[in-house]
Amino acid sequence: MHEAKIQFFTMIAHEIRTPVSLIIGPLEKVLKAQVALPESVRNDLNVIDRNSQRLLFLVNQLLDFRKVEQQGMKLKYSEQNIYQLLKSVCERFTPFITQYGATLKLECPDEGFTAMIDYEAITKVVSNLLTNASKYTKDEVTVSCSLAPDGHTFTIRVADNGIGISKEEQKKIFNPFYQAMENKPATGIGLSIVKSIVDLHNGRIEVQSEVNEGSVFSVILPTEHAEAASRQDRPAEEPKEPAVSEEEVQPKEQASGKPVMLIVDDNREMLDFLSSSFTDKYTVLKAEDGVEAQEVIGKNDISLIVCDWMMPRMNGIELCRAVRANWATSHIPFILLTARTDTNSKVAGMDCGADAYIEKPFSVQYLMACIDNLLELRNLLRQKFSKMPLVPLNSIANNTVDNEFLTRINAVIEENFSNPELTVDFLAEQMGVSRSGLFSKVKVLANITPNELIQVIRLKKAAALLAENKYRINEICYMVGFNTPSYFAKCFQKQFGMKPGEFASRKQEEEKPV
Ligand code: ADP
Repeated sequence: MHEAKIQFFTMIAHEIRTPVSLIIGPLEKVLKAQVALPESVRNDLNVIDRNSQRLLFLVNQLLDFRKVEQQGMKLKYSEQNIYQLLKSVCERFTPFITQYGATLKLECPDEGFTAMIDYEAITKVVSNLLTNASKYTKDEVTVSCSLAPDGHTFTIRVADNGIGISKEEQKKIFNPFYQAMENKPATGIGLSIVKSIVDLHNGRIEVQSEVNEGSVFSVILPTEHAEAASRQDRPAEEPKEPAVSEEEVQPKEQASGKPVMLIVDDNREMLDFLSSSFTDKYTVLKAEDGVEAQEVIGKNDISLIVCDWMMPRMNGIELCRAVRANWATSHIPFILLTARTDTNSKVAGMDCGADAYIEKPFSVQYLMACIDNLLELRNLLRQKFSKMPLVPLNSIANNTVDNEFLTRINAVIEENFSNPELTVDFLAEQMGVSRSGLFSKVKVLANITPNELIQVIRLKKAAALLAENKYRINEICYMVGFNTPSYFAKCFQKQFGMKPGEFASRKQEEEKPV
């Protein structure tokens, strides 16, 4: 199609989709409000609701109402009956799957089998896999569970007989925001959340799939969990840290008790509607274009930006680029709202460094679920970095500026392990930032203080050296800047849930040829 025509249709789409969003959103709120309405009014509203939902589906097939609201997650291990867990997830999904004429089977030979898992987290894993299986299957979905002969691990499988995934795509689907299929209701982050949860459980996920035959996702998990078992006998004494004032550690937005969300849209009604939807959870600030938004960002500690694409003066992409280019703001999650549907625009949007791209019209519930997913994913990455000995610091970076910042700070710390001057002030000076700037940035990226970061980097380096199996534990202890092996062992255990010796022997065990 001629470029000018594409531009024209895009503009029309933009004009149509914004008001459509403003029908669907407020309607959702009215229907959910606990107020008594005359039956005839409620019936009419239900008709509007059904048809606007249909319209929504036809416009971009983007919605996925099943994304559960997700809060920050800390794993809580307990002994759980796996059959009961799978049964309850399957019961929840049966109406959804059968609605499309498919069947859902559960095969679990040992109904009494239990394992140490985080119930909520594994429920989330199975739910995400089932959501995908239901979306892509032909007419059959099977969930099954089996215990390995040695009893150390068990496997949960979710299989479908649908469109399948090519070998090339199988390598990419666990990456955040990857979507093999366009035009399906999707965010592309479900599987990356699944993988993060499985990794946190010290498990692994595998996919076997043939195009047009179906896919089998297998989640292999340990039946016992070292961290859960060792938690009881952790040393009571906390490692001594230089005193850090609370004021310096707490990001400013915590003063009001709520994180700060900035909403940027040139449509006043949209701006008001979105902000009223988020005031429960966030302190909402508003701006009508990119230039105004930059002023707001300069004066406030923003936790999240939701921004329209097309705006006068400075559009959403330009704003996103500016936010990403500045190290003081580059970490802020950025969600771009747009009416554009053509692939080139989508790629341009992703290239500017936005974390998520949501097409109008969207439901507020969907936007909320995307935000929660995004924040949870960041949270999981931080936990993975913190708990898993060999996961590097820059794994928590979400963009190149943060990646450079983290790589550099990691290098400065490593180069100065044996330097007694390795303090927060020294680190700030080396990084060319203020002490408070360093606190905020490290806190927001890693959710720890710079002192804690120095400690974690020491321990990570120790883990890497242990894995190399070239030095004795005591030598490594001094190499990474600890003064006593007993304190080193204590800190290592506290951080990674196992003693240095245990970690080293596990690594050697893994290295052994089979
Ligand atoms: P989403 O489904 O929201 O796009 P996911 O991270 O869950 O995000 O999945 C990423 C991509 O992997 C999907 O867009 C889809 O292309 C592919 N995929 C996942 N599960 C299946 C499946 N069971 N069958 C076919 N393709 C799948």
